[in-house]
Amino acid sequence: MTVTSVPGRRRTFTNAIKRLLLIDLFKGLAVTFKYNLRALYEKREGGNPNQAIYTEQYPLEPARVSERFRGAPRLNLDPETGGTLCIACDLCALACPVDCITVNSTRREVRDGEKVNKKKVLTTFFFDTSRCMFCNLCSEACPTDCLELTQSFELAVYHRSGFRWDREMLEKGVKYVKYNK
Ligand code: SF4
Ligand code: SF4
Repeated sequence: MTVTSVPGRRRTFTNAIKRLLLIDLFKGLAVTFKYNLRALYEKREGGNPNQAIYTEQYPLEPARVSERFRGAPRLNLDPETGGTLCIACDLCALACPVDCITVNSTRREVRDGEKVNKKKVLTTFFFDTSRCMFCNLCSEACPTDCLELTQSFELAVYHRSGFRWDREMLEKGVKYVKYNK
């Protein structure tokens, strides 16, 4: 009588032995141990390099976002004069597909030597962060690099009205809470 091998049965037997000896459990523990060991000496970008932790320590440390991340809007000021870079051209508002920007301006007389020109001057600027989809079209349309989407992502507010950022907020930026242990 010839004996035929039964592969299915052999597999079941091997699995049973694996389970009995907790092979998969030890494999998982080995991976965890390897990462913990690596965290002891591996330097982390940002954060405390001596800390043996490889998870994000947000909000104690700022969370890292990708380079191309687009978040909270900002109206940049002229670094030399401190005045606004916005020329109230309205191009950002026109470029926005969801109409979340409102630019208001007035015409003022500006003396240039002998000449007196009438110039558009920004009065108010509103940005509705609740409707924004962070497509960056407004920023790309801005001819003076005034409007920028920054890497800040903490946009949650307690009241709906907080989503509407005015010129002051856009120029100064939001004050974030500094968390401590
Ligand atoms: S990022 Fe896009 S949706 Fe948001 S304000 Fe700019 S153009 Fe509008
Ligand atoms: S496009 Fe730029 S300069 Fe023109 S209104 Fe918008 S922020 Fe101001």
